[in-house]
Amino acid sequence: MTPIDNHSDDHHVLAIVGSGFAGVGAAIRLAHHHEGSVVIFERAASLGGVWRDNDYPGAACDVQSVLYSFSFAPSADWRTVFARQSEIRAYLERVARDHGLMPRLRTRCAVESITWDTARSRWILQTERGTSTADHVVLATGALADPAIPDIADLHTFSGPVFHSAQWDHSVDLTNRRVAVVGTGASAIQFVPQIQPLVSSLILFQRTAPWVMPRNDAPISRRTRAATRWIPGVQKLRRAKVFALRELKLAAFRHPRLMAIGEKEARAHLAHAVADPALRAKLTPDYRMGCKRILISDNYYPALAQPNVDVNTTGIARATSRGLIDTDGVEHSVDAIIFGTGFDTSRLPLTDVVTGPAGSTLSEHWGDSQRAYMGTSVAGFPNLYLMHGPNIGLGHTSVIMMLESQLRYIDAAMTLQDDRGATTVEPTVAAEDDFVRDVDDLTDGTVWTSGGCSSWYLDSTGRNSNLWPASIAGYRRRASVFRADDHLTRTAGGQS
Ligand code: NAP
Repeated sequence: MTPIDNHSDDHHVLAIVGSGFAGVGAAIRLAHHHEGSVVIFERAASLGGVWRDNDYPGAACDVQSVLYSFSFAPSADWRTVFARQSEIRAYLERVARDHGLMPRLRTRCAVESITWDTARSRWILQTERGTSTADHVVLATGALADPAIPDIADLHTFSGPVFHSAQWDHSVDLTNRRVAVVGTGASAIQFVPQIQPLVSSLILFQRTAPWVMPRNDAPISRRTRAATRWIPGVQKLRRAKVFALRELKLAAFRHPRLMAIGEKEARAHLAHAVADPALRAKLTPDYRMGCKRILISDNYYPALAQPNVDVNTTGIARATSRGLIDTDGVEHSVDAIIFGTGFDTSRLPLTDVVTGPAGSTLSEHWGDSQRAYMGTSVAGFPNLYLMHGPNIGLGHTSVIMMLESQLRYIDAAMTLQDDRGATTVEPTVAAEDDFVRDVDDLTDGTVWTSGGCSSWYLDSTGRNSNLWPASIAGYRRRASVFRADDHLTRTAGGQS
């Protein structure tokens, strides 16, 4: 093992790892604590997180932009109800610039390990460009950072291009090519309709049919945009309306029988676009709506109904140099294979290289089920915060509101430490246990556990360790009342 240099001169009060919505939000909301001593490490060449990486054709948000943006940085510029990836990326860059974050950003600087230095009560960050130290670390690496490509036998023997939707190879011209797409999640249903008109044939390997609802995207008129910009209260009103409508939908996730209403609409949406009963049967889900992410699209089903598309539901047995062989033994010759197979969600990024005071990594500490107080801080790991941590994901609305509430909590925890003149702060074991018990109780009976599907929301133990299973308002309430008693602070000489 390489010895760690723990006497780096590059010391910061706060080090943030990752520069997507979570990292940018953290830098803005927490900088006031220690202006001038905040650094953001970013492994890529620019900021943006998932909205930088996922630039596949058709990439867009499936939450209305008026809500999928920071409450403290509203924009009147969205041109459509659901913004495109390039707009969202530009928005995030603009917010970062407006708040003076660029000088704090260190791009192409992947963090390789984060280790607690007990003697000096600080974190040591080993990066690809050297060693830094920080009093506090915010891991803002996101839950969907590392693309997952399934382990298909002999895939390496395939002679054509192979890529994942989050690493789209724009140098590959798909025009008049035979293309295989694997996966039918939120990403695939956005890029399949974009490439279908270009390609000569498209074989779509579907393991589980998603529930797809109408998207109903529309341009935002000049008049609405002008009113949003100039008339006080309009922006807030539009946001509040979308927020309320989405919060109402939570009732069906918590009382799955109500999902029958949405299922009826989704079936009609399918029937309207797909006349062939055999294809319709393949595309009809066999589990309760909401168990997996509910997708929205107006062009996915029409694309699948085109004569150059074949939906294969038998599964993939192996690859050959020419294409993919399905489990019926049929070889499908293609020129390119595109994976829309999602992300490694079994562990949060970097958690296997964050080593706490007890000498174990966060991953080792957790075992097979990740957990955190407020989905954010972990007993035994002082001064460490996980943005989009365990149980922060959402199935029904904009996660950015969760991130903002997390920041409110982190801000309060750092303030407690400052006020007490302490060097560290962390949640107590009992408080973390209580929070996790609440999450488990709130998850009980929801569609995520009773809907009859297998989803990445549940971990290998069957626990929901990814989603916040209640209302945003509920989480926000918890985050706005900071409980000092739930925390342990230590000074160099003792603890309180
Ligand atoms: P995903 O939702 O995890 O979907 C992955 C797809 O690949 C599923 O259809 C899955 O099938 C399939 N798959 C995985 N492994 C496979 C295998 N070995 N063989 C065959 N099929 C396989 O991934 P995603 O579409 O990239 O979306 C990930 C998340 O990103 C979403 O849940 C959402 O949170 C986010 N997202 C958001 C937006 C947005 O508009 N805001 C857009 C895109 C993505 P099974 O269903 O059978 O597992």
